[in-house]
Amino acid sequence: MQEEEFDDIVDFSETYRVAATEAIEVGTYMRKPYVIEKPGLAVRKEWDRNGDKELFFICESISLSFSTTTGTDVIDITRSIAEMVAESGICEGQALVFTPGSTAAMTTIEYENGVVRDLVEAIDRIAPKDMEYRHDARWGDGNGYAHVRSALLGPSLTVPILNGRLALGTWQQIVLIDFDNRPRKRQVIVQVSGLKSP
Ligand code: ZN
Repeated sequence: MQEEEFDDIVDFSETYRVAATEAIEVGTYMRKPYVIEKPGLAVRKEWDRNGDKELFFICESISLSFSTTTGTDVIDITRSIAEMVAESGICEGQALVFTPGSTAAMTTIEYENGVVRDLVEAIDRIAPKDMEYRHDARWGDGNGYAHVRSALLGPSLTVPILNGRLALGTWQQIVLIDFDNRPRKRQVIVQVSGLKSP
């Protein structure tokens, strides 16, 4: 079979070598490579199609830490993420919120006592604590229910950034949920990326 040629595929090793000294044309945009300004912050300069307006693409990552207890903790983490978005200066982009670990989860909810309790009780009914779990029989750590709950809700969330703000509803908060049967120090990685005006 004859090898196909793709005009629009760029050999980035070459691109980066050239772009290290001068801006090069890629498609209709003039681009420079990403620059890692510091750990967790990558920046790329872009020019619009007319070449007269500079925009920055940035990608910034931080890690937040939350202490949890033995029971099911539902923690409102919206403010920390909103502050990071504001400080980043991104006008259009995305905020990715992820918790590493298989006994915690990330979702959104109206953060008021009633519905938070309702959620915790609904999850109790789906994966009750006092059932037999194969995980517990095998590992003896007693948190089989927490692994199942975490897998059902998922470990991450992506929220669009529009006009410099998280596109959340008025009564919609981002919550970290810890199901584990022991206190933990939970890490939440927040990665914001998008376009920033100079
Ligand atoms: Zn376990």
